[in-house]
Amino acid sequence: MPLGILVADAAGQVFFRNQFAMLEQFDGQESVLLDNKVRDLIATALDGGSGEEMADFWGPPRRTFELRSLPVIVDGESAGATVVIEDVTERSRLNQVRRDFVANMSHELRTPVGAISVLAETLLTNNDPDVVARLSERLHRESFRLGNTIEDLLALSRLESGEDDQFDEVLVADIFADAKERAAQASVGHSIELTTEQAELGLTIYGDRSQLSAAVGNLVDNAAKYSEPGSRIELAARALGDSVELSVTDHGVGIPEGELERIFERFYRVDPARSRQTGGTGLGLSIVRHVVRNHRGDIHVESREGEGSTFTLRFPQG
Ligand code: ADP
Repeated sequence: MPLGILVADAAGQVFFRNQFAMLEQFDGQESVLLDNKVRDLIATALDGGSGEEMADFWGPPRRTFELRSLPVIVDGESAGATVVIEDVTERSRLNQVRRDFVANMSHELRTPVGAISVLAETLLTNNDPDVVARLSERLHRESFRLGNTIEDLLALSRLESGEDDQFDEVLVADIFADAKERAAQASVGHSIELTTEQAELGLTIYGDRSQLSAAVGNLVDNAAKYSEPGSRIELAARALGDSVELSVTDHGVGIPEGELERIFERFYRVDPARSRQTGGTGLGLSIVRHVVRNHRGDIHVESREGEGSTFTLRFPQG
């Protein structure tokens, strides 16, 4: 078991170690460090206290251990000490992810709030109608972006909790119709074409209609944001074994190969200025990835810089 247990007698001599606490899986330096910590913890416990220490090894792979000690008391007398070594690598990685997320989110919210505050202050002291019109327009844009970020954060948290999931058989035709409607505003000036036969529109996916529509809608939104107005966006569906594949293709700026892994991370943008200009929140693809996970599906991207991208979602057939 990934839990080390050591027991020492009243003189501080360790007389029992389980397999994990043999420290064989650690290299020389690591086991010396752990041994020192164990000795300190035993001393604390023999004094009647309970101790706690962390040990962080950078690896690779990085590993984190928590060591805790407790005194063993027999008939009111200190009779020895126990030390427990626990591998808390995954727990501390998750804590780090959470801390990073809160820091990123605070930054993302602070930027538009700061801009709104400065714009409002300037408006208070300016009467020039041209300036007022320009500042009001920017004020509107920043508050719209702030609203979108909050909406996306709420959507992510709903997806994570899984509370609102309503699974049923959903028609591909309905998903495409919803997605086109959702993305209507961003995709003004683009031609969205269904490059799919009628039969494929009749396929079904077992899933939550609003989540599936939101995922495809986000992809259509992006296809529009990262391509020239007037260019074509293609929606396609096909059956593949027990699965249904939905794809959204654009002929826009494309994504550099080295960035393909990272674009699904929260708040990650290849070109932050362009994302900001188009009102992007940096959360669209995280939402898509969550929906795909909730449906036990997968996602695949093919992209060439300057030529365009195809995002393909694969789901179990309904
Ligand atoms: P954003 O709100 O910034 O669009 P997303 O999570 O939807 O956030 O996407 C993350 C990043 O991935 C975008 O900022 C953009 O750089 C890149 N990206 C997403 N979709 C496309 C696409 N169809 N074409 C080119 N780049 C894209």
